[in-house]
Amino acid sequence: MDKAKRKAIIAGNWKMNKTPKEAKALLEQITPLVKDADCEVIACVPYVDLATAIEATAGTNVKIGAENCHWAANGAFTGEISTGMLKEIGVEYVVLGHSERRQYFGETDETVNKRTKAALAAGLKPIVCVGELLWERECDITEEVIARQIKLDLWDVTEEELKNVVIAYEPVWAIGTGKTATSDQAEEVCAFIRAQLAKLYNQDAADAVTIQYGGSMNDGNADELLSKTNVDGGLIGGASLVAEKFAAIVKAASK
Ligand code: PEP
Repeated sequence: MDKAKRKAIIAGNWKMNKTPKEAKALLEQITPLVKDADCEVIACVPYVDLATAIEATAGTNVKIGAENCHWAANGAFTGEISTGMLKEIGVEYVVLGHSERRQYFGETDETVNKRTKAALAAGLKPIVCVGELLWERECDITEEVIARQIKLDLWDVTEEELKNVVIAYEPVWAIGTGKTATSDQAEEVCAFIRAQLAKLYNQDAADAVTIQYGGSMNDGNADELLSKTNVDGGLIGGASLVAEKFAAIVKAASK
């Protein structure tokens, strides 16, 4: 399938930034700048900002995502948020398996898989993050790491459900470090991810999946990264907190 037929998606990952008031102000700056985007535009925001963000983007082309969700419908999981809670307030996307969750909060491929299946069952679209550590790249096991994550994170996800999954390739060494993968490195791993999806499902199913690159993508490097055949969008951390920079990345993806 030709790249143009896949949905280009630019998603901001705000991480633990912006109070509800600040979120409203930032979204009011972003929405007019991206109103003519020819790609999907998403802001994934902290839980407490979700309701405000949904209100601030009503009637615009900006969709709202959460930064995590639990797999259980409800119960004794202090501090967690269920898919039903997100769905009820109008959340459409959810970032899962971000390397910061894996690194600091004990997220494993097994829990990423449980969250992914729960999100899909609830009608949310998961943005499933995979990526190698610097040491793993240096040891030349990037492909093994990615293959394992893709297989485990998507375990038991059906071909039909895969249509609602977005994959974000985020080399851990490039996140928040200012070190970007070269466009060739990004393309190489995104193409590898697609090949793995083709093995697990089939070529048509794999060709239809949006694969984002994430890791210090910004207004200066987005054009080059997004020009690659298998890089269908971006998951943007730092640059998503600056309206003009985020809008410039959206513009690059709209070409
Ligand atoms: C991210 O948080 O997913 C990310 C890619 O961050 P940054 O763009 O800041 O590297």
